[in-house]
Amino acid sequence: MSDLLSEAERQRILAKTARFAPPPARLADGRRDLVGLSRAEMAAALAEIGEAPFRAKQIWHWIYHQGATDFARMSTIAKPTQARLAEHFVVGRPAAAVVQTSADETRKFLFRFRDGQEAETVYIPDRQEDRGAVCISSQVGCTLSCRFCHTGTQNLVRNLGAAEIVGQFMAARDSYGEWPSPKGETPRLLSTIVLMGMGEPLYNYDNVAKAMQIVMDHEGIALSRRRITLSTSGVVPMMDRAGSELGVNLAVSLHAVTDALRDEIVPLNRKYPIAELIAACRRYPPASNARRITFEYVMLKGINDSEAEARALVRLIAGIPAKVNLIPFNPWPGSPYETSTPRAIARFADIVMQAGFSSPVRTPRGRDILAACGQLRTESQRPRASA
Ligand code: SAH
Ligand code: SF4
Repeated sequence: MSDLLSEAERQRILAKTARFAPPPARLADGRRDLVGLSRAEMAAALAEIGEAPFRAKQIWHWIYHQGATDFARMSTIAKPTQARLAEHFVVGRPAAAVVQTSADETRKFLFRFRDGQEAETVYIPDRQEDRGAVCISSQVGCTLSCRFCHTGTQNLVRNLGAAEIVGQFMAARDSYGEWPSPKGETPRLLSTIVLMGMGEPLYNYDNVAKAMQIVMDHEGIALSRRRITLSTSGVVPMMDRAGSELGVNLAVSLHAVTDALRDEIVPLNRKYPIAELIAACRRYPPASNARRITFEYVMLKGINDSEAEARALVRLIAGIPAKVNLIPFNPWPGSPYETSTPRAIARFADIVMQAGFSSPVRTPRGRDILAACGQLRTESQRPRASA
């Protein structure tokens, strides 16, 4: 695809998603949320009330390094200034409407945003290590309708804004008291982000990119791009851009080795077929042996789990620095598939491993509270145009 063509394609995607824009950063009372602004935007917002640029640096540190939500806690700022800041601004968080903790300690949050729309976030503690991953949503619902995915049964309601994307992570940290202690100890538990919740992150690229740039900023949360993984169902024109601008790890929801099957279970394949998707993976800038691309492969009984398909898979990805993550299908109410047998999964994994690719099987986490991959869904609906 030529650069010109792919630019046109990108513009088309952006235009198509514009009507799903998140709500404005101003509250009903006129105050503005500082979360989700870039550094330059924060400095400009503060300049409007006569504050010098150093103030933005100071407040950035309080918000993103210390996790402060109350200006009165910002002890390096004089009391009268704190009060003035509170008149004009807030440091927002999505409201946790429901918090459920699974028997295996996975915790699912249902977050309600300012306009009442809802999305889910999941914290998955690592069983061996003293840390874990926060699985973040990028949209309320999803435009795509992968056949095996619960989110795919919910129409796209709207995109999440940068504030709402970063806000999920910060609110999850709040829930674990995971901000630096006054002694300066850095948080450990919530130290990885996977963009694998509800929605297709590359169909909401601008907000996702802005949120990740905030999260990676060295004077704030300061997560390394190596600790962030973006999962896509294969929006080819946006993959190059995510690679060069964000440099995060890439996970690709492959799930099938022929276009015939992938067209059916991941309908986006009709637009960006397997050959184009694999080509985009081969040129993904940050990929290397140290930073492999993850191919996600949901194991559906009798659908995509044969030994022949395992062999076709390794031929397809030959030469790519990659690993294959086998995800036993997680059922949801009314789902049309069954999970592959443990024996089929083991055989598949073995063939992939023999070919030189690591092939971990993703242990289902939080299934009892519908928090596992592909089980997320909320009741949010698109308001009627007349409303
Ligand atoms: N929209 C993005 C990211 C969210 S889904 C994407 O599709 O990549 C995260 C992963 O869970 C994807 O690989 C997705 O295909 C997979 N998944 C969806 N439904 C699932 C289910 N019911 N069981 C197991 N994995 C599922
Ligand atoms: Fe959307 Fe990903 Fe679910 Fe497909 S698997 S419907 S792209 S969230």
